[in-house]
Amino acid sequence: MSAPTSSPDFLPYGRQAIDEEDIAAVSRALRSDFLTSGPEITAFESEFAAMTGAKHAIAVNNATAALHLCLLAAEIQPGDRVITSPNTFLSSANCAAFIGAVPDFADIDPVTRNLDAGALEAAWTDDVKAVIPVAYAGQPADMPRIAALARARGAVVIEDASHATGGGFVHEGKEWKTGGHPWADMTVFSFHPVKTMTTGEGGMITTGDDRLAAAIRLLRSHGVERDASLFQGLGVSGGPLAETGPWTYEMHALGYNYRITDIQCALGRSQLAKLPRFTEERRRITARYNEAFSDLPWLATPGVRQEEDREHLSWHLYTVEIDFPVIGLSRTEAMARLREQGIGTQVLYIPVHLQPWYRQTYGYGPGKCPIAEAFYVRALSLPMHPSLGDDDVSRVITAVRNLSPGQP
Ligand SMILES: *Cc1c(COP(=O)(O)O)cnc(C)c1O
Repeated sequence: MSAPTSSPDFLPYGRQAIDEEDIAAVSRALRSDFLTSGPEITAFESEFAAMTGAKHAIAVNNATAALHLCLLAAEIQPGDRVITSPNTFLSSANCAAFIGAVPDFADIDPVTRNLDAGALEAAWTDDVKAVIPVAYAGQPADMPRIAALARARGAVVIEDASHATGGGFVHEGKEWKTGGHPWADMTVFSFHPVKTMTTGEGGMITTGDDRLAAAIRLLRSHGVERDASLFQGLGVSGGPLAETGPWTYEMHALGYNYRITDIQCALGRSQLAKLPRFTEERRRITARYNEAFSDLPWLATPGVRQEEDREHLSWHLYTVEIDFPVIGLSRTEAMARLREQGIGTQVLYIPVHLQPWYRQTYGYGPGKCPIAEAFYVRALSLPMHPSLGDDDVSRVITAVRNLSPGQP
């Protein structure tokens, strides 16, 4: 039967890497004067901005809230259409539905499994006001091409880089960091424990645009303005109702409580300091898997858009495509066989347009994005996280190779 997930030998597909330094950083925050709205948040934001090269970084409680805030800041309206990749987690599309916009999908590129610029162009309609490309597994979509397409048609580009913290790509010989390049108006990151670095729950938005940054900061905390130079007044001139003082705050927009805590940001700063090592480890594991699986005719390793990106990518997932009929096992059977050997796997992602709520609400269904649907049928994500030792990676390699037809 399957090994228990709590067994010390069990290798999950993704896992946080927490050390004593992280624990000490959180303890210091707990002993400080600020559990929230304090200096750890602003320090985390400026360190993250420096890492990406972005002008602004705004920390929030999770990436789903971050995506919601981006659409609000961009003033996407009810009825507007927002196109994202079907090969993603629900949030990349749900955020459009939160505001009454219409989430829609264009198919993926068969090599990178990212939103395909050609499919995006073919799917374009006049009501598309935002595009949300997702950096699947940590590899960015073709951002220069997608941005050129969207901007020429007046749409905003929000990159969902929940998988890609610490990564980047090369364009015309120059390296750009995700979050700091000019082909996204806003970029969103997730710090959920399975992602490349963690704050428990948490998210970040980067942008180079002052106006968007100000709107996001306002909406992150109830739409409340505390800067007296920006006060609009309560609609009375003179008299006691018009008096302002140190207590005064004004609500200028319908905002939310999407704040992150200082406790989480203390962990975030400690994790951020280790991010270069995490991404390096992830690249090393990817290279080992790629090499070890290169001769298997029934398995395809993750493709890259361009070879020169390899040294800049931050892999969150290692997803292979397996021809299950050829190995004579269903995906469920293959997963169970790996699990018996203490190896956790996951299927990422069920195409979002096939989810019951999307089918019922928007009438989407099978055949809308055939490449994403075909990818889903073959996808299997193997263990990928910096705590995997060389022996662990070897164990995964042996177990996967033993799925070959004719093996016991
Ligand atoms: C994890 C994830 C999210 C949501 O992140 P949370 O921080 O859990 O809200 C959004 N988009 C993608 C692509 C993700 O993988």
